[in-house]
Amino acid sequence: MEKTIRITLLPSKKKEKYLKDAQKKVRELANILIPYKKHVKTGMEFHHLVYKRFRYLGLHSQLQENVQRKVYGAKKVKKFRTLPLEFNFPRSGKIAKTRKDNPVLVVSPLKKRIAFPICRDGGWRRLKEYTIKGWEAHSCRIFQQKRKRKRKAKDRKRSSKVNYGWVAHLNIRKELPPPQEVEGTIGVDVGRKVFAAVTLNHPSFPLLERYMGKDIAWKQHQLAKRRRKLQSYRDKGSKKARRALKKLRMKERKYNKTRCEQIAHEIVDWAVTTRSAIVIENIEGIRSKWKKEKTKRRGKQSKNLLRELNNWPYGFFLSFLTSLAYQHHIPVVKVDPHYTSQTCSRCGHTSKSSRVSRGLYRCVACGIELNSDRNASRNIGLKGFSFLALPFFSSWSSFYPFPREKKNNFLVSVVEERSTSSSGSMSGKFFLPPG
Ligand SMILES: [Zn+2]
Repeated sequence: MEKTIRITLLPSKKKEKYLKDAQKKVRELANILIPYKKHVKTGMEFHHLVYKRFRYLGLHSQLQENVQRKVYGAKKVKKFRTLPLEFNFPRSGKIAKTRKDNPVLVVSPLKKRIAFPICRDGGWRRLKEYTIKGWEAHSCRIFQQKRKRKRKAKDRKRSSKVNYGWVAHLNIRKELPPPQEVEGTIGVDVGRKVFAAVTLNHPSFPLLERYMGKDIAWKQHQLAKRRRKLQSYRDKGSKKARRALKKLRMKERKYNKTRCEQIAHEIVDWAVTTRSAIVIENIEGIRSKWKKEKTKRRGKQSKNLLRELNNWPYGFFLSFLTSLAYQHHIPVVKVDPHYTSQTCSRCGHTSKSSRVSRGLYRCVACGIELNSDRNASRNIGLKGFSFLALPFFSSWSSFYPFPREKKNNFLVSVVEERSTSSSGSMSGKFFLPPG
């Protein structure tokens, strides 16, 4: 598995100039190389054609090869403006320590090797933690990035110049053992009102269900209201409003990111303690599902929904959840979300008319009434069962005498009976394991 960590570099003026020189040469080389692509068919041929010809520029051999690969891989690029400097460990770079025990990143963009001090911020601490856990850095990319800096009152007026800082993206790698054996599944349904409806389906645990991240939708609503107001001020020419809008965008992004990570951590902790797999919808499915919902509405409503979908952080959430689960040796199953909101999680009957209103699901076949997000997340969890070829189990057997849901129940009931007969005739459709 691979991960990327960002660290901050603190080059002196002299070293900064050296890096800029290297960047300039890389850009120059990349732009010279573009027309040569016409004459070759493979990357190897490209290498043989150009490698020796442009050694005179004085770039390190590894760096030149990386640039060649980048140019060959880039399609439809007519001119490169900026290119990051790429280094592979240990051939053209490494992480080391000085005699005074300060961390440095040693790289050789041109002929000479140069050490750049690493800032001991959060990124460096994260890198140290991962190194202790056995991760190894194998390559890095160095480039300039906009830096936030607190400005003093006196230079607030004149400094419209953007301040740049040097950062490196370190790629770290570790061979992870295969995921552990599981007994149950956790179904995760990503929705708009409830960010993640989560259900645990496990033969030896009580049926647990939770709605997570309800606050995300609420927060977005609040921020959207504020944004609308600020936008009207900005259109009248207020500079203050313009600045506030920019801040607001950052705020929203940060809020979403933090909450996504918190929820993912909660779900993974849960999976570890109950020894169960995580089942999620695959992302293309979600998009098409929501597009369908969009076409139902018209005009302004549909426009609003589209904006909501674009801001919605489900992509980030699912990828973060997957990577976090792999690190804890939890298998992740992606299933097709089609019909998960229309199928009854108790009897397996699929019908469009079962979705009575936005939040409510009432099965036309067996009459069960429950929240639609909850129903979908159960279906997703059950789909995972057949995927993992686990013995069939339905938490509904204990529910049978009391089909109505109680309100605010985190812990619903303890499963005692495990009979498959009560789950109805449709259970063979996708609930049973293949073979
Ligand atoms: Zn039913």
